[in-house]
Amino acid sequence: MSKKIPHRLYLTEEQMPKQWYNLRADMKDQPDPMLNPSTHLPVKVEDLYPVFCEELAKQEMDEVTRYVDIPEEVQEFYHLYRPSPLVRAYNLEKALDTPAKIYYKYEGNNTSGSHKLNSAVAQAYYAKKQGLTSLTTETGAGQWGTALAEACAYFKLPLTVYMVKCSYEQKPFRKSVIQTFGADIIPSPSTTTNAGRKILEYNPNTGGSLGCAISEAIEKSVTTEGCRYVLGSVLNQVLLHQSIIGLEAKQAMEILDEYPDVIIGCAGGGSNLGGLIAPFMQDKLLGIANPRIVAVEPASCPTFTRGRYAYDFCDTGKVTPLARMYTLGSDFMPSPDHAGGLRYHGMSPILSKLYHDGLMEAIAIEQTKVFEAAVFFAKNETILPAPESAHAIRGAIDEAIKCREAGESKTILFGLTGTGYFDMTAYSAYLDGTMKDTVPSDEDLLEGFKRLPVVD
Ligand SMILES: *Cc1c(COP(=O)(O)O)cnc(C)c1O
Repeated sequence: MSKKIPHRLYLTEEQMPKQWYNLRADMKDQPDPMLNPSTHLPVKVEDLYPVFCEELAKQEMDEVTRYVDIPEEVQEFYHLYRPSPLVRAYNLEKALDTPAKIYYKYEGNNTSGSHKLNSAVAQAYYAKKQGLTSLTTETGAGQWGTALAEACAYFKLPLTVYMVKCSYEQKPFRKSVIQTFGADIIPSPSTTTNAGRKILEYNPNTGGSLGCAISEAIEKSVTTEGCRYVLGSVLNQVLLHQSIIGLEAKQAMEILDEYPDVIIGCAGGGSNLGGLIAPFMQDKLLGIANPRIVAVEPASCPTFTRGRYAYDFCDTGKVTPLARMYTLGSDFMPSPDHAGGLRYHGMSPILSKLYHDGLMEAIAIEQTKVFEAAVFFAKNETILPAPESAHAIRGAIDEAIKCREAGESKTILFGLTGTGYFDMTAYSAYLDGTMKDTVPSDEDLLEGFKRLPVVD
């Protein structure tokens, strides 16, 4: 008799990881270095100090330290909401009538509602420790701004958040939550920065983009004494902090005597996926195991599946270093019909490299199919997922259906990154039948590729 696997498995505080895992330490082929945008020479760690706090700049550049101690203070904060549960989706399996075993790692169980808090806490902690007096950031859908506002309130650091204007208008309660935690919030593009004013001059009615909000936040940080910029995804340091997701998940699966055949995650900038897969990708890189790894992205912002692997700016204002990554071009803006998050033009350079080298796969899905999966999941698993997370749900459901058709029992693990309570406008559009799928044409994408910086 196989032992009965519980619905939800929580590690104990003692079992929780005390170190993050740096995937780059096990990559024989490293991602290409970040480049200075004017000289095209590799960026040195000191070059990052005006923008990032020093410890985080070091983490950004560190490709040798395999395990990094999680500071005591960060562990203490983690204990407020971690470990997150590994859930066996018995109800979903039953509803799909699939022989597959479906597990998900649920990161929506904290007040910010997503995995973003895992890195927000770390970034606020290092900034405070360095004696900085304020932080700035951007937020798209609002989860990162919320998570960082919570972390900054805890460490008593003033914060200014530039929120993409169309989200700011669509989600007024996000603004209230961020303000409740004491942060300032400004819709972007704004007239408070040169970058914002320039974008408004060309395009006064723009709803904004993440790339544009990033330009504004960076400008604010470099023009304000004692202020630094923090980013909630894409960066190597963020993937490092998010490795807590995968480390916990792997340990919980070991306790259950399980190992995933397929690991599925949604991909915006790549932080939750990079964190979830980190220790499993380590097994792959070291030849210990060979799980399939699948990134799921929106068809309206198809960075992996239709983007170019090229050097590009990380922001629309073209002030950041150049990173080699899959990109749609730094001024790409997904259609305003797109409601499902995951709208960044680029992708984590670490994941981009792994994808380019054939170590992971990617698929793109239209948003109506994503919301169909979200509603199906909510009814069966009693969690209302974030639209972003529902991309991974869709991927997992389709995989489980394939298992049913092939009469094959696979073990599927996916990342459920957060809850969708601030996304009810999008849910309503889906339920009313007014939601549209707008997929960019090849010509649309070509426009973005034409403006990629030329690096030889
Ligand atoms: C931000 C966010 C994502 C996407 O960001 P990644 O960096 O790709 O993980 C996914 N799900 C939720 C709930 C988010 O808040």
